Amino acid sequence: MSSASSWDVVIAGGGPAGFFAAIRCAELNPRSKILIIEKASQPLGKVLISGGGRCNVTHACFEPAQLINYYPRGGNELRGAFTRFQPKDTIQWFEARGVKLKTEADRRVFPVTDDANTIVNCLRESAKHAGVKIQTGVTLVNVEKNKNGFRLEARNAGNNFHLQAKKLLLATGSDSKTRAFAKALGHSIIEPVPSLFTFNIKDQRIDGLAGIAVENVQLKMDSITTQGAVLITHWGLSGPAVLRCSAWGARILFDKKYASPLTVNWLGDYTFDSALAVLQRNKAWQENARKKVSTHSAFSQIPARLWKQLTEFVETKNWGDLSKAELSKLAQELTAGEFNIQGKGIFKEEFVTCGGVKLSEVDFKTMHSKLVDNLFFAGEVLDIDGITGGFNFQSAWTTGWLAGNQLADGM
Ligand SMILES: Cc1cc2nc3c(=O)[nH]c(=O)nc-3n(C[C@H](O)[C@H](O)[C@H](O)COP(=O)(O)OP(=O)(O)OC[C@H]3O[C@@H](n4cnc5c(N)ncnc54)[C@H](O)[C@@H]3O)c2cc1C
Repeated sequence: MSSASSWDVVIAGGGPAGFFAAIRCAELNPRSKILIIEKASQPLGKVLISGGGRCNVTHACFEPAQLINYYPRGGNELRGAFTRFQPKDTIQWFEARGVKLKTEADRRVFPVTDDANTIVNCLRESAKHAGVKIQTGVTLVNVEKNKNGFRLEARNAGNNFHLQAKKLLLATGSDSKTRAFAKALGHSIIEPVPSLFTFNIKDQRIDGLAGIAVENVQLKMDSITTQGAVLITHWGLSGPAVLRCSAWGARILFDKKYASPLTVNWLGDYTFDSALAVLQRNKAWQENARKKVSTHSAFSQIPARLWKQLTEFVETKNWGDLSKAELSKLAQELTAGEFNIQGKGIFKEEFVTCGGVKLSEVDFKTMHSKLVDNLFFAGEVLDIDGITGGFNFQSAWTTGWLAGNQLADGM
């Protein structure tokens, strides 16, 4: 390896954003010299483990205005970007390269092989075919601006060496050291905190019910309200409504040290009053009078074992014996049960960090820094994060593709 090799474009980070940018740039401008440096021994490591090893490539939502609602941070900035490259384009991009994709019932898109290797191989082959050079085991350790672009210091197996780049793309994901380079070049960094996690909740009402799911639950945590399926786990609560709540409430929960009240409406669309009306009708039915409340549920959407534990305070009572106060308490329990989040757990299918390079300092038409000439950003290095469902990769594909266009320009 030469100690000061010169490149048109150096891309730090061999993840999906870096690869997409490199391939796009090389395909637009086959003569440009493009190098990806990747600190791991293999590129695309996160893609390989993504989506439980299946790689949830994108989400079949083709309206930019709708798509941005899945991004707790970055939605506004991505709106224009998605008019240029959106999930439909991602699907076409992979299918044009022979990767067949399928859309599941919840609109998540996967390779038909259900194997993330399919996506990794496609990206690696496309990069190779386009002439992109990749050096693995190489870590970017310093960046200096000079009159020809950037003088980069990199490390390989303990040895430092220099590279000269006309244009530099930082696509290093949530790596805090590289974000520090962006800071040294003048960019503001929004402090990173985790997003997308499950809630640790120790509470008798859900104890021993791991594996039980409720389809339509509304959650309220501080100013955040989310609705959807909830899964009871050994440690507390998970499922789409919880993950959405963790993503939208990522900063609030971080500030609260992951300890916060959580209000759970197990009946989703019911209010206290509409639930109370159903309970009152249930009590009024003659045939219910001698049936135990805890074993004769009033709401089929609540699984029997959960109903039993939610109604434990009237365990010995028949429907006919419930007092007005008990009916109210039950309606309250079902539509506004008070729980306490006591920590965060890991959502194994997808980990994401919010925070990163401040978005107002980047031009989202080109992913070019507004502060430093010839400096670009793409992917999770930016203060963008989506909820689970393929949205995080989509932002990497989109920002990578846009950066690739501009990296190729003028080379
Ligand atoms: C377990 C898991 C599962 C996931 N599943 C999904 C999913 O199914 N769908 C989805 O949409 N999202 C998923 N995500 C999120 C998704 O993986 C990320 O949003 C996406 O990978 C971000 O892409 P990126 O290219 O910006 O960063 P990364 O994929 O993090 O790539 C950055 C690369 O830069 C390298 N790097 C860092 N610092 C340096 C340095 N100084 N020098 C050289 N190289 C460096 C890293 O080694 C890394 O390879 C998942 C994440 C995880 C952790």
